[in-house]
Amino acid sequence: MSIRHVVIIGNGVAGFAAARQLRRQDGDLTISILSDEAHPFYLRSRLKEFICSALDEHEMILESRNLYRREKLNLLLQTRVAALDTVNREVILERGERIRWDRLLLAMGCRPQPLEMPGGDLRGVFSLRTLGDAQAIRNWAQGRRRAVVLGEGVVSLQLAESLACAGLEVDYLLLGDRLWPEVLDETAGGILEYLLRDAGVRIHKRSRVVAIHAAAGDVRAVELEDGREWPCDLVGHGCSFRPATEILVNTAIACRDGVVVDPHLETSVHGIFAAGDVVGREEAREDGALGPFRWQNSFHQGEVAARNILGAEEVLETFSFGIRTELCDLGVAVLGHGNLSTKAAGVTVDQVRHENHYRRLVFQDEILVGAILLGDVEHAPMLEEHIRRGATRGELHETLLPALLDEEPRLEQPLETHCPICTDAVKLAAGTLIGHRFSCRSCGNKLRLTYSEGRLAVLPEEE
Ligand SMILES: Cc1cc2nc3c(=O)[nH]c(=O)nc-3n(C[C@H](O)[C@H](O)[C@H](O)COP(=O)(O)OP(=O)(O)OC[C@H]3O[C@@H](n4cnc5c(N)ncnc54)[C@H](O)[C@@H]3O)c2cc1C
Repeated sequence: MSIRHVVIIGNGVAGFAAARQLRRQDGDLTISILSDEAHPFYLRSRLKEFICSALDEHEMILESRNLYRREKLNLLLQTRVAALDTVNREVILERGERIRWDRLLLAMGCRPQPLEMPGGDLRGVFSLRTLGDAQAIRNWAQGRRRAVVLGEGVVSLQLAESLACAGLEVDYLLLGDRLWPEVLDETAGGILEYLLRDAGVRIHKRSRVVAIHAAAGDVRAVELEDGREWPCDLVGHGCSFRPATEILVNTAIACRDGVVVDPHLETSVHGIFAAGDVVGREEAREDGALGPFRWQNSFHQGEVAARNILGAEEVLETFSFGIRTELCDLGVAVLGHGNLSTKAAGVTVDQVRHENHYRRLVFQDEILVGAILLGDVEHAPMLEEHIRRGATRGELHETLLPALLDEEPRLEQPLETHCPICTDAVKLAAGTLIGHRFSCRSCGNKLRLTYSEGRLAVLPEEE
């Protein structure tokens, strides 16, 4: 069957990356992207910035409608898919229309579940996923004084930071003793805890909320297990994100804790593929690392799925990209098994800490299996590559380790290269810091010294 129309459900990073990859490979294909959101593509990691600023919604959009037009991508916003008819190969929209596909990509991402406790659905209880959510939080926060934040993942951390930055008093209640324990080791968690406190967030450990109380329908306080109450007029949480598979009920598409896919990202129904957070975690993370929040994994899966939709038969590596984010103005990268404890068999760790800058390299049986970088995260892509190919400690000792475990990695020798924009010569002296930002003397564009694909390189600042 010739493929003329690919329908993509979801315009997050997986869907968007897939659409662009499809277009790169086939200029004539009809590509339709259906999204229940109101905005073209934007970065969810920037939503925290939106909450505590006066940014306009349009300033958040990474790719304007012009790009969709230029690349001939039919973007249908505020278009919710209600069901699938896999026999006739049609999506059924909430408004009743049907759209036929030759190939379908499921890229619906995941959704936060409502808080399962009395009061979990009150006015003033929010999670953060979309630009619409960020707008609602910003509106609600205006003129309000106190927020409580629950949950232990990146979304909760970003909520706590942004609500404090928006001027609210924030009480962040943790179930356990540590910040983001699924991902960070004790030292990294401690550094972020210090920075959050410094930003005005009050952190309370071993504090389980059992109910949320209201006054006139609005949030008034949260109640803890031990009976104490924290007064608040906003509750933010980033708890229990689950794959958005509700439209697959009553279809033959197999789901477990998300859509089940084969190594080509094809589902149990021929011609229907899935990518991104909607894919079951068991499938997406055979290495058992981290949670579902990995932008890069979704991007990569979107591209692989697109190539396979067009017949490539590319196998998705079991390797899972790490998480990269920014918290309290500090770069954070956790790669592979970065928080593996030295109590585990065969595990040894090389680490260095300089104030809030921290690097932890984890070896199992002398093979690099993970890393945590706080502060300067320039080395993350290179380290990821070394983890992927199972580099040994011996190899790294000769190249990367001395620089990484130096508090401030610098050029050991002068570097002569070219401006990636105007191609004029660029010279950097020995001792220049890796990560150094500067302007090209010829064209004036901003550049930085970094590692790219395992080598030192000068790249445009925005990359
Ligand atoms: C607040 C926040 C901050 C984050 N920060 C980071 C970070 O710093 N680093 C990092 O690596 N990851 C981060 N993540 C996670 C990262 O954004 C996700 O892993 C990534 O967005 C997943 O992409 P996706 O395309 O699979 O799904 P999504 O981005 O969730 O996109 C799916 C889209 O499909 C739409 N959709 C769902 N069902 C339907 C339907 N029936 N009809 C039509 N449309 C539908 C959804 O509304 C959504 O627009 C963050 C996530 C959030 C929410």
